[in-house]
Amino acid sequence: MSTRITLVRGDITTEEVDAVVNAANSSLLGGGGVDGAIHRRGGPEILAACEDLRRSHYGKGLPTGRAVATTAGRLPARHVIHTVGPVWSPSDDRSELLASCYRESLRVADELGARTVAFPAISTGIYGWPMDDGARIAIETVRASGTSVEEVRFVLFGTDAYETFAATL
Ligand code: ADP
Repeated sequence: MSTRITLVRGDITTEEVDAVVNAANSSLLGGGGVDGAIHRRGGPEILAACEDLRRSHYGKGLPTGRAVATTAGRLPARHVIHTVGPVWSPSDDRSELLASCYRESLRVADELGARTVAFPAISTGIYGWPMDDGARIAIETVRASGTSVEEVRFVLFGTDAYETFAATL
């Protein structure tokens, strides 16, 4: 079965999908960008679930390139899948870690039985990854993933991100 890739411009917190992917940091305790927006709109239930994860499986935090699911609180989505992107480096090729975020998030989505999943452009904000390379890795990795998810929706904040993903697709 092939996965449909769609693109929309907008705010990922309003997407009506089975799972929304959060560009989290390894603390799982909130941050700026997508992370801040998800916790603000999703309410305290998401943070409480993240704190539980820190107390149980992820005492040292979630490693870069991994993914874990929680409730989506008050978001229209059913689940939030938190993944930690790599910080971009001009001297060290961390592409495999960025690809791993997409792969691992889709593996978790498959475990949840999610049919529709919304992704932001992981690492392309505060973590500084160039948008064109981030888009290429995102799309190539989803295409190669073999996931059972029916629709992967990239939710892009701003015209530049949208245009870059559209050109890559
Ligand atoms: P990272 O730390 O992984 O770089 P950010 O959250 O800073 O994560 O940014 C990731 C991408 O998500 C950036 O392209 C940013 O512009 C975009 N972004 C920020 N807020 C939202 C939002 N509410 N919905 C969708 N995309 C967003």
